[in-house]
Amino acid sequence: MSLILVVEDEKELNKVLQAYLTRAGYRALSAYSGHEALRVWESEKPDLVILDLNLPGMDGLELAREMRKTRDVPIIMATARVDEVDRLIGLELGADDYVTKPYSPREVVARVKAVLRRGARTQEMPAVLTLGKLSLDTNAHSAKLGGASVELTPTEFGMLQLLVSQPGRVFTRLQLLEAAQGMSYEGYERSVDVHVKNIRRKLKDADPDQQYIETVFGVGYRARKMEL
Ligand code: CA
Repeated sequence: MSLILVVEDEKELNKVLQAYLTRAGYRALSAYSGHEALRVWESEKPDLVILDLNLPGMDGLELAREMRKTRDVPIIMATARVDEVDRLIGLELGADDYVTKPYSPREVVARVKAVLRRGARTQEMPAVLTLGKLSLDTNAHSAKLGGASVELTPTEFGMLQLLVSQPGRVFTRLQLLEAAQGMSYEGYERSVDVHVKNIRRKLKDADPDQQYIETVFGVGYRARKMEL
């Protein structure tokens, strides 16, 4: 049974989410501040975190950064500011998904399911995918390029994994979004461009001479076919 940590300082909202998550078959824990969340994070090792950005004391971003230092667990961020969403997904730490407040608890549970399903599905992939000098360990969720490790967020990894699983095949932005998030959000396809840009930059840092991902104008992206 997956363990979900709900970090939300509004007590009523936190309780409602707990109730919905429990009813959906998850174990749920609550934290009402960043410091409390870090304690639970370390002692209980949750499988997924729902994180309100606006917290007393330590803010949500700082907290996410702290948590990601020790383990790479999916984070769903909640924010009241729609204009922050693009910035959130573009951030280095990469929220795996986000919800904008006010949200319905049912919607949040659906996102939780989708993010966890994505994690389960990627386990059916071959253990190691390779493309040229690039290798992706799909169990460890780690990427290496010419022996050097490339730090990718879970979302970036999901997209790159889909691309590399079938070199030469074009995937639409919507498919990439689904692969990475387990569900699609129309209107947010351009967020894929932000993620792909981040992936490209990271691969380029490790291997400046090679292009791994090609843009197919008007359609989407594909991994370049290349010889070993
Ligand atoms: Ca709050």
